[in-house]
Amino acid sequence: MVKVNKSKCIGCGQCASICSTVFEMKDGKAQVKKEAKTNEKCVDEAIDLCPVDAISK
Ligand code: SF4
Repeated sequence: MVKVNKSKCIGCGQCASICSTVFEMKDGKAQVKKEAKTNEKCVDEAIDLCPVDAISK
């Protein structure tokens, strides 16, 4: 299960821009969409790109 650690997230928006099927921004932080297919390939890209390692699965 993919998770965003909201206390680490700095709201850069990169995960939502490269993986919009899974991540969305809310109140300046990223969150996993409710209906997201979390096995999407782009989840791994988002994990690599996140500057603060806030995404885990
Ligand atoms: S890439 Fe990381 S820091 Fe940036 S919005 Fe997503 S979870 Fe937050």
